[in-house]
Amino acid sequence: MFRTITAVAAFALIAGVALAQDDVPEVETFDLGGGFYALYGQGGNVGVSVGEDGVFVIDDQYAQMSDGLLAAIAELSDGPIRYVVNTHWHGDHIGGNENFAATGAVIVSHENVRGRMVTGLEEPMGDDPIPPSPEAALPVITFNDAATFHFNGHEARVIHVPHAHTDGDSIIWFADANVLHMGDIFFNGHYPFVDLASGGSLDGTIAGLEVGLAIADDDTKIIPGHGELATRADMQAAHDVLVSVRTIIAPLVAEGMSEEDVVAADPLSEFNEVWGQWFIDGDTMTIIAYRSLNAD
Ligand SMILES: [Zn+2]
Repeated sequence: MFRTITAVAAFALIAGVALAQDDVPEVETFDLGGGFYALYGQGGNVGVSVGEDGVFVIDDQYAQMSDGLLAAIAELSDGPIRYVVNTHWHGDHIGGNENFAATGAVIVSHENVRGRMVTGLEEPMGDDPIPPSPEAALPVITFNDAATFHFNGHEARVIHVPHAHTDGDSIIWFADANVLHMGDIFFNGHYPFVDLASGGSLDGTIAGLEVGLAIADDDTKIIPGHGELATRADMQAAHDVLVSVRTIIAPLVAEGMSEEDVVAADPLSEFNEVWGQWFIDGDTMTIIAYRSLNAD
């Protein structure tokens, strides 16, 4: 049995296929206190800081969400949107870049985000090639390991985590406010998508979650890339299940079992009922783990 990762939902997440206008959801705003908000719509969860310097935004979902997101942000602040940080290059996190840049926002990302947007991807883990992004959507400031924004009286530390969900992931940490945006390294309550075709890896995702766990405490307000707002305990659980996945599948790879045989053995069955209910089901998680560990 050979399976490719071509679930429609997965492709929508990766490439940001256009939604029918009727399918564009309302934006839901969650107040985290202290001028911090999380905006939920369609695509990756958006983080917002508002204050005297204006608005700082983390990720901007799909292009068709921009009107709703900009309206929701306007409810929170009269100030200009000064910066948008992209946590990684997937279309459900960068799709609004062009629209946000048109309002005057400066788009910022890890250098690999811009690099992948410039080239696109011929063979993503979804089925259709991802075309290069238009110039107007590209980040205009890039960094390699880390960047710090001094904005609205806070220090926002943007920390690159290598080869995790992709090869361009950043997490954003507002230390004084105890707010943490994890990007897609953290899917709250679901197996994560690890985009091997974009330089992601299982071990890097585990390591990325450990960076977040080292930062967070029991009071940290955590915005995951997908899923409900989270606590450190939620993130610990997401980490621990991935360590279990690794512990189960690594010996099967080391034994030389084929991918088909590993999938047929249903090695993650004890976790799938809880963790495999979104677009990464148990078989897909098995395939991702197998391919990532087999490539090491
Ligand atoms: Zn993603």
